[in-house]
Order: sequence, then structure tokens, then C-alpha cells
Amino acid sequence: MLGSKQKRAIRQELHEAQGFRCFYCRRSMPDNAATIEHVIPRADGGDDSMGNLVVACQWCNCLRDRMDHEKFRRVVDSLVRGGASLGPVDQLTRMGELKARRKGAAARKRKRAKVS
Ligand SMILES: [Zn+2]
Repeated sequence: MLGSKQKRAIRQELHEAQGFRCFYCRRSMPDNAATIEHVIPRADGGDDSMGNLVVACQWCNCLRDRMDHEKFRRVVDSLVRGGASLGPVDQLTRMGELKARRKGAAARKRKRAKVS
């Protein structure tokens, strides 16, 4: 595990190396919006080495969940490319809302199943 001081230093280094942009959606983001992402999630055997770390904006970090990073990047790419009138943030927000709604529905379903 990384300490918070180490984390901050790594985040700043990665943020600078990526041109202060999100690894996935390529939008520029302020330092306080950057979150450290494991390209290969720790749960899947990824480590804390610099080669496995990138910085992503909070939306991408939150939406990616455990999706394969290449797949997720393609999804974000297509959203950014297709987003003539809507910014990726809006689309990602919608995606997040849909996902949350689906999650909520699934949780409610499970609850009901338990009761009956
Ligand atoms: Zn992003």
C-alpha cells in the first residue's frame, strides 16, 4: 500500500507526464480532480508500480469500475468523438446515472427476493 504522501507525489508526477489530462477521456483536469488509477486493478493482480499507474478524472475513475482498461478507453473515445453537442462529462454523467439506476434496481430486486 502507498502512503498518502507517496500517493500525492506519484499523482503529481503522472499528472504532469500525461500533460495534465485524464488518461481515458483526455480532458484536462486540475490536480485535485486527478485520481490514481491502476491500469490492471489490484484485484486482478496489478501492482503499485509506476508502469501500472495512470491518473484519470473522477468520472472516468468512477465509471470504469472494473472494466478492462482498453475497452473502457474505447468506450470513452467513442463518447468523446460522438459528442458534438454534448461534452463527454454530460454523457459520462448520464452513463453514471444509468449505471446507478441499474444498480439500485438490482439491489431492490434482491431485497424483494429476500423478503418473499
Ligand atoms: Zn476522464
